[in-house]
Amino acid sequence: MSKNAELIAVGTEIILGDIVNTHSQYLSQKLAQLGINVFYHTSVGDNPARLRFVIEQAVGRSDIVILSGGLGPTEDDLTKETVCEVLGLPLHQDAEALRRMSAFFERIGREMTDNNIKQSMVPDGAVIFQNDRGTAPGMAVEKDGKVVLLLPGPPSELVPMFEEQAYPYLSGFSDAVLVSRSFRVFGVGESLAEVKLGAMLAGENPTAALYAKQSEVLVRLTAKADTEEKAAEMLQPVVDELYSILGDTVYGEDVGSLEEVVVPLLREKGLKVATAESCTGGLLAQKITSIPGSSEVFECGVVSYANRIKHELLHVPQELLERYGAVSEQVAAAMAEGVLRLSGADIGVGITGIAGPGGGSEEKPVGTVYISVASKMGETQTKRFRLGYGRKNEREQIRMASAMNALDMVRRLLL
Ligand code: ATP
Ligand code: MG
Repeated sequence: MSKNAELIAVGTEIILGDIVNTHSQYLSQKLAQLGINVFYHTSVGDNPARLRFVIEQAVGRSDIVILSGGLGPTEDDLTKETVCEVLGLPLHQDAEALRRMSAFFERIGREMTDNNIKQSMVPDGAVIFQNDRGTAPGMAVEKDGKVVLLLPGPPSELVPMFEEQAYPYLSGFSDAVLVSRSFRVFGVGESLAEVKLGAMLAGENPTAALYAKQSEVLVRLTAKADTEEKAAEMLQPVVDELYSILGDTVYGEDVGSLEEVVVPLLREKGLKVATAESCTGGLLAQKITSIPGSSEVFECGVVSYANRIKHELLHVPQELLERYGAVSEQVAAAMAEGVLRLSGADIGVGITGIAGPGGGSEEKPVGTVYISVASKMGETQTKRFRLGYGRKNEREQIRMASAMNALDMVRRLLL
């Protein structure tokens, strides 16, 4: 039987809403990877009675309790003392923790004070997670079949300590390993993806889960087995099936965004891109340049809002602007071709559309966007999009979806 766990975040700042309890998310994800079920999340302030109450409750109902925060040197840092009280464990000084703490203070050039010494006190029989990034060691204690972990509050200390020490320690309490792979899908709506993946989503092991992100879908496949190899092996046929169903709408595995895929693709092919944007106001250029190393693939971005600039800088013919309007297939193509010539890049992208809330018409309602990709490799391709859901104030969503569709068109050109 797998053990179950619960998390307790200690700190008045959390209760007051001054900080977000990011540990609960981080630790839950890690425990899921370990195949340990998390049944409760609790937050509690630095109050001895209430802290004691939640620890008693947690130890009563869960196999593993993980507390974070309140291991500091000050009076209100009470986590360790309270856990020891509840479990009836005496404290003693840990020489190694004290030595590391003195070394830490020497490194940062500050004097160690007496109250730091309280941080080197550890419960009898505890497994110590040494802390090289701060003063408080973390620890794990076992009593009457229950396991209690104490981790320091600062994320810069908790995360590496968890990865390096607590995770391997906890893996001993799990009889299953979960292996997950996440896929990003663009150009298939959530409901359509649900229909297409029907049988897969009903599977129990491996499981498939769908998450709607902005204008795209994330599919997470997870298999559970005794070993990592077995879980990975179980996952592979489902991954193959995913690709056969969704094809090249799957743009990447374990990636964060389209630009994270497009920039390396451009670099691989030795190609440079330039952008001419109207309704997105530079969002596409911003996305591309947010990726480190984009200087190798990005030539320039023009935010050509006014028609005069479209004409004078990008050489969009006046006649096209007058005959078809600034938001048109013809102008999008002329913008893409214009910036291609202007920059000397290999690929030019033009975006023009109506982000709203004003400016729509019957023929071209808000959300109408034309995106064009011109390149030295072939003919200019232009697509008309209807973005947004026709709700009020979708300006940001329409702009974001425009930039993402432009990236996807570039990606498809490179495939
Ligand atoms: P310190 O030695 O810094 O006092 P500590 O172990 O006593 O460490 P806390 O005092 O509870 O930890 O928290 C220190 C800082 O760590 C907080 O100010 C906050 O910035 C961060 N922190 C604590 N708990 C969390 C949490 N659950 N999620 C995100 N950040 C947290
Ligand atoms: Mg503290």
